[in-house]
Amino acid sequence: MIEIENLSFSYTKNDKALDNINLKIENGSWISIIGHNGSGKSTLSKLLVGLLEPTQGTIKIDGVLLSEKTAPELRKKIGIVFQNPDNQFVGVTVKYDIAFGLENKRVPREEMHKLVDEYAKKVGMYEYLDREPHNLSGGQKQRVAIAGILALNQEIVILDEATSMLDPEGTLETINLIKALKSDYNKTIITITHDLDLASLSDRIVVLKDGNIIADDKPINIFKNKKVLDDSNLLMPLALSIYNEALNYEEIANNKDLMECLWESSLME
Ligand code: ADP
Ligand code: MG
Repeated sequence: MIEIENLSFSYTKNDKALDNINLKIENGSWISIIGHNGSGKSTLSKLLVGLLEPTQGTIKIDGVLLSEKTAPELRKKIGIVFQNPDNQFVGVTVKYDIAFGLENKRVPREEMHKLVDEYAKKVGMYEYLDREPHNLSGGQKQRVAIAGILALNQEIVILDEATSMLDPEGTLETINLIKALKSDYNKTIITITHDLDLASLSDRIVVLKDGNIIADDKPINIFKNKKVLDDSNLLMPLALSIYNEALNYEEIANNKDLMECLWESSLME
């Protein structure tokens, strides 16, 4: 479990990028963090992986306080996939890139080859092992990045706008893989996203605004709350706005089958 208590972070004397955040994330759950630009989403993800240190408050992971001392150990549990897949590649081949984290972890060579093959297969990139990462599509790059994290067997995976640079096909590839991370590997998943279709698939949505949590609930309840979405400039997917509009008409809203049908059609499942 991730336990965030009274967490604040400032980049300068005068700002509050995060202002007294309290949040618990259960192991094996999928949570989406949404909010307009500058609301503090990336700051939170950087604090979670120990790239920034809290100005105030604490982060505990499975009961261990995240600090300079514990960060190297805790980082073995948390992997992060960034927005731009190009920034996370260092190697000349896909194989090298998936192996990168394992090499850092000093996994013996033979074991490393085995893991690279295994996880490249899992994400459907086995045929591409000797290719140059730069020539892959956006969705393929994200799949390679995710293979690298799977190979390290990290329990918590943060995806910071991991689909925002992708075309619809790449987005769908990545979404399917995120679903598998949860269902097949029981990972704890934190998706940071503008994409409410993606967020609607998670167990829970946390809405950040100006460094504060303004809502924390199941997707259906968040989407019912038009004020929260308006407040944070988030555009509701069209299907969801139809669902929401229907809620205003008693006769329609009371028709459970119809409402269920509208809700189902608004989810990307
Ligand atoms: P988000 O990811 O939600 O767009 P960020 O966490 O990147 O938001 O930013 C939160 C706030 O912190 C914003 O006001 C942003 O301008 C500020 N900020 C982010 N990074 C820096 C930085 N390196 N130095 C100073 N201010 C920053
Ligand atoms: Mg960001």
